[in-house]
Amino acid sequence: MSEYREREKNEIEGGMLYLVATPIGNLSDLSERAIKVLSEVDFIAAEDTRNSRRLLTALGISKPMVSYHDHNRRERGEEIALRLKSGESCALITDAGTPGISDPGEDMVALCAEEDIPVTLIPGPCAAINALVLSGLPAGKFVFEGFLSAKSSERKAALRELAAEKRSIIFHEAPHKLRATLDDMCEIMGEDRRIALCRELTKLNEEIIRTTLGGAVALYSEKEPRGEYVLVLEGAKQADGVEFWTNMTEREHVDFYLSQGMSKNEAIKAAAHDRGVHKSEIYKLVL
Ligand code: SAM
Repeated sequence: MSEYREREKNEIEGGMLYLVATPIGNLSDLSERAIKVLSEVDFIAAEDTRNSRRLLTALGISKPMVSYHDHNRRERGEEIALRLKSGESCALITDAGTPGISDPGEDMVALCAEEDIPVTLIPGPCAAINALVLSGLPAGKFVFEGFLSAKSSERKAALRELAAEKRSIIFHEAPHKLRATLDDMCEIMGEDRRIALCRELTKLNEEIIRTTLGGAVALYSEKEPRGEYVLVLEGAKQADGVEFWTNMTEREHVDFYLSQGMSKNEAIKAAAHDRGVHKSEIYKLVL
């Protein structure tokens, strides 16, 4: 083991940005390497310094901290980049999980890439991957969508664009939006599409609900959604007569093709071809 370790890349390098993955609910998931980096860098940039200070205090680490979040990422990113260029080392942590996935970590990496600043990732928990693996749905090919819009019209438009996606689709979801999202998914993808609702991952109340969209809507009409969720939705099947447009109106079907960049004429022709009808029939309905 010690011989093996000698070959590991564990020394802190000046001028390097260390993205450090932190637990999504279970403190024991913080790696030995993550603790070493957090203890040894010159300073830590955190999405929520109060939150992260609690984590660092639990680990007995005291370090200078700066905040780096959605609202200050431009100016603060430049300041962090300047400090890195002057030779300081920095660890970037976000609220939970892997920085860069649905959080401002991604902008800091882009800035470092632009300015030729070396960046590395200390890997660890990531809610989306945790959920995908536990979903029981195909995990070999998948699409990550992050959060859907809180606005119903935008959410539905995004779901329509995904209706024909064959790979498993991963979404982040907040409990107060869960019912509305499930209703929209059920309306657009159909009640038989399978879904895994992965809640409170790595926590005491971890739960994986493997059901269909119809089943999920029924479940949450009786039960209050609580905790943090990742949703993993089965991809569209294009066999056994179930097509991605089965639950769409003619207008939605045409809109789907328009959103894929087709002209109006092409979209009408494609929808008519899918449905096995003459294009004039679709034309009449969508005008
Ligand atoms: N960067 C993070 C990661 O790698 O997991 C994700 C950040 S995103 C702002 C936060 C979302 O991740 C939550 O709204 C929820 O959808 C999901 N999430 C985080 N922790 C979770 C947990 N313990 N169980 C289920 N979902 C979780």
